Amino acid sequence: MLSVLTKTVQAVGTCKFVSWISAPVRHSRCIASLSALPDTYQMLYKTCRDFAEGELKPHAAKFDREHLYPGDAIKKMGELGLMAIATPEELGGAGLDYLAYAIALEEISRGCASAGVIMSVNNSLYLGPVLHWGSDKQKHEFVTPFCTGDIVGSFALSEPGNGSDAGAASTTAKDGGDKWMLNGTKCWITNGYESKASVVFATTDKSLKHKGISAFLVPKPIKGLELGKKEDKLGIRGSSTCSLMFEDCEIPKENILGQPGLGFKIAMMTLDAGRIGIASQALGIAQASLDVAMEYASKRMAFGKPIMKLQAIQSKLSDMALRLESARLLTWRAAWLKDNKQPYTKEAAMGKLAASEAATFVSHQCIQILGGMGYVSDMPAERHYRDARITEIYEGTSEIQRLVIAGQLIKEYVNKTKGLTQDFQKKTALRLELKRTKELSRQVVEELKQKELARKERRRENIKRSAENRAKAEVVQVITNTTKLKRMRKKQLRFIQKRDTNKEIEANK
Ligand SMILES: Cc1cc2nc3c(=O)[nH]c(=O)nc-3n(C[C@H](O)[C@H](O)[C@H](O)COP(=O)(O)OP(=O)(O)OC[C@H]3O[C@@H](n4cnc5c(N)ncnc54)[C@H](O)[C@@H]3O)c2cc1C
Repeated sequence: MLSVLTKTVQAVGTCKFVSWISAPVRHSRCIASLSALPDTYQMLYKTCRDFAEGELKPHAAKFDREHLYPGDAIKKMGELGLMAIATPEELGGAGLDYLAYAIALEEISRGCASAGVIMSVNNSLYLGPVLHWGSDKQKHEFVTPFCTGDIVGSFALSEPGNGSDAGAASTTAKDGGDKWMLNGTKCWITNGYESKASVVFATTDKSLKHKGISAFLVPKPIKGLELGKKEDKLGIRGSSTCSLMFEDCEIPKENILGQPGLGFKIAMMTLDAGRIGIASQALGIAQASLDVAMEYASKRMAFGKPIMKLQAIQSKLSDMALRLESARLLTWRAAWLKDNKQPYTKEAAMGKLAASEAATFVSHQCIQILGGMGYVSDMPAERHYRDARITEIYEGTSEIQRLVIAGQLIKEYVNKTKGLTQDFQKKTALRLELKRTKELSRQVVEELKQKELARKERRRENIKRSAENRAKAEVVQVITNTTKLKRMRKKQLRFIQKRDTNKEIEANK
């Protein structure tokens, strides 16, 4: 089915809506290179590449010059499933994942950065939060019709008074019983002109600060909502950017997304995913700049040889490729983590920071390599340079990405050291317990020894005493026997004396 699709895309403009085959994608292990990924990704890449080459690249300069919204191209991207890549098939999406989204968005942005941002906002900033937080009814109404490319959505967080400090929203949503009443101004809204619905953030309880912000699904057009002027921008001029001005704008009660007070959380989670999209857009711009620089350097002759042979140019090319490829790996890693339901806030911020700074660097070097030709609109280098710049600003400036990364690093460190402290405390407690047990057993052994010694001593005493007693008894016996003998002798003597006396008397008679 995909090869049919590829041919259809090459045929330009006749493609039908495609249902991508998503089964094997989440089992991918190696994201180091496109060729190591399962076929689905490679076919998706090729389809997007062919589409960008055929449908976007030839018109990108015109979209830019004339501030033209690339409506036809967006419709065809919808038919290819690119406007709702990570949306489940049963809701009308392609049923793929964020790695597929990153690969597709890079290729689309390589052809046209304006088409890239329109696709990015619809996929991650608009459909993302509705898919995650929306009820079945909301998904039916606010997801399915937005998958086809016929209509797009937008995301309205920034305000004239606060961009980076998103928690300080001043737009209000007042509870009006069976409805919400919105008042305030949102600014810099991508797809602001074309979108048929917007995820709008407004405060429902000012006293709770960022915890009092809620998210609402606002269909467009709607009474009480006016659009500001189309901003005249440095780059991505094919996409519209404008303010949304709410004045007593009533929306149905059930149009709140998630619970009241969840808005800030919804916005931050949405931006985590959105950053993978902007990183991919930046990669596409950087890749397009490198493509231009390589081609020009291979053809432009200076000092009798193509400038590609000059070491100074080679050094620039290698730095450009290095920044681009390392940023791509970071971005794909963030997408892979998201697809595998692992934390990815830090990684998405790293991907976005690296890719957007790479886009600025690579497009800057591209102009340098093209020399004068880089500075005029005959070549796309200056457009890429202008397009690249926004990627360091929206969905969190580079300064904010660094804060996010540092915040996550500190959190990880604290958790790790808390773990270590707990380990240490456990080990110390065990060591103390062991020491106490050893001491106790030493005391018990000592006591037993003492008892044994005492027992032996008693035994010795007893033996000695009984020996003494025996000796005493023997002495007594000897004495008794001697006395008895003496008495017997005395008796004998008396008997002999008496007998002798009687004999004498007898003889004398
Ligand atoms: C073309 C375009 C399209 C846009 N699309 C959308 C959209 O669809 N939806 C939407 O809601 N918004 C959108 N935005 C708004 C964009 O997200 C904000 O412009 C961006 O977040 C910066 O906010 P800010 O312009 O108010 O700058 P500020 O917040 O005023 O920042 C000004 C400078 O201060 C720095 N800064 C601010 N806070 C800190 C800090 N704590 N530490 C260090 N430095 C800091 C910033 O990095 C920046 O350099 C878009 C903007 C543009 C230009």
